[in-house]
Amino acid sequence: MKKRIVLASDNPGKIDEISRMLATSSIEIIAQSEFNIGSAVEDKPTFIENALIKARHATANCGLPAIADDSGLEVDVLGGEPGVISSRYSGPDANDEKNIKKLLDKLEGVEGTDRSCRFRCTMVYLRHEFDPAPVIAQGTLDGVIHHKVQGTFGFGYDPVVWLQDRRCTLAELPPEEKNEISHRGKALRNLVEKLMNLVETDVT
Ligand code: IMP
Repeated sequence: MKKRIVLASDNPGKIDEISRMLATSSIEIIAQSEFNIGSAVEDKPTFIENALIKARHATANCGLPAIADDSGLEVDVLGGEPGVISSRYSGPDANDEKNIKKLLDKLEGVEGTDRSCRFRCTMVYLRHEFDPAPVIAQGTLDGVIHHKVQGTFGFGYDPVVWLQDRRCTLAELPPEEKNEISHRGKALRNLVEKLMNLVETDVT
């Protein structure tokens, strides 16, 4: 029988991606939405704390081990803003368009590699609510904030994150190509590797 793990996300894209990566393993991913438990409040200053809050909320309410992730964009010249508040950067009625506008306005007059940035993703696995040793995985993707919106794939800040080596924005890459290089793809592959070792040694 497969080991059942709840995914603390309501994002169908993430659920699909993680389920496919685990398709041939002994793990079965179940979306948190199947339990009707609502979302956790992510109000901490670090990605790891917010990921743990989401995973703990899911495992406590579903009675299964849980995987959660937290991610965001860090712009160096802005001291790491928007960071953990990436989705809420432009205020209470924030959306992708307003967040991007605020970011581009703040970077007016900043040129070239001084616009350096990275996406960061932290993923965690908790065996149960009081698990004292969470499994943790990270992934990053470096870029430079572009001067204008470009590309139609993806979501969030993708249209303004310029990839120096590919000479395009992240929103110009089809989903499969983005997953190969993205912060989330890297964190997920790293977490899956660690989970496989745990399952093999049967300490989950
Ligand atoms: P979440 O915690 O993964 O849901 O993402 C938090 C926020 O960070 C998103 O709402 C986006 O604003 C931003 N973000 C995270 N990952 C990405 C990405 O892959 N592309 C664009 N924006 C992202």
